[in-house]
Amino acid sequence: MTTLPTIFVSHGSPMLALQDSPARRFLQGLGNTLPKPKAILMVSAHWETAGGAAVSLAAQPATIYDFGGFPQALYDIKYHAPGAPEVAERAAALFEGAGVAVVRSAQRGLDHGAWVPLSLMYPDADVPVAQISLVHGATPAAHEKLGEALAQLRAEGVLIIGSGSLTHNLYEFRGQRVNAPAPQWVTEFEIWMKEHLEAGDRVGLLNYRQLAPSAVQNHPSEEHLLPLFVALGAAGPEAQARLLHSSVEHGVLAMDAYAFN
Ligand code: ZN
Repeated sequence: MTTLPTIFVSHGSPMLALQDSPARRFLQGLGNTLPKPKAILMVSAHWETAGGAAVSLAAQPATIYDFGGFPQALYDIKYHAPGAPEVAERAAALFEGAGVAVVRSAQRGLDHGAWVPLSLMYPDADVPVAQISLVHGATPAAHEKLGEALAQLRAEGVLIIGSGSLTHNLYEFRGQRVNAPAPQWVTEFEIWMKEHLEAGDRVGLLNYRQLAPSAVQNHPSEEHLLPLFVALGAAGPEAQARLLHSSVEHGVLAMDAYAFN
């Protein structure tokens, strides 16, 4: 079995599920560019737990509508992929082996950070999905280590996907239209991340908050960038980053996606 790359995708606004854009078209094509995985292990910005990494053991994960004020059509979408409780248990065992505290969740479904991109990548919902959480308040380095613990799953046909947003300042969102131009402080951060990811500068990346231009403005809180560090860690220390897609939606949401292998 081929060892799969790991992926980071930006999920943008929940309207990505419905509204045409370059990022949406990219995600619609992404599944077909990858070897078909046996299962997906998804880490989304929208599930953070305190005191350890959570894994969902749900056999039939529900579609979670963790947003408000959107058109009914968005709440009508159901993503029916089966769960992957055995992959979740493997992840839990690997975390425990690495000294990471684990929280087992019997029922947790898929939040929109998971199901919006998956509904575009795998519209037939025929790949089982397990979700794991971010650890609330933990650093980029701690999230890279979570990924490292999971690395061997890549050789077992498991596609590890981090879903967040390369930039994510919702205070600056202000209802801008989907194709609004990006301000300089978004673009300069996007470029810095690309340069340091492609150069494999792990130390710089882990300290992005101190080193990257406008880092705090682009991530007032870190949860939308942390899934990238899980994907990076799971790809191993020598992994090369490959930019798969770059665009900006609503002025402030960089939709960049990367593969690591
Ligand atoms: Zn989000």
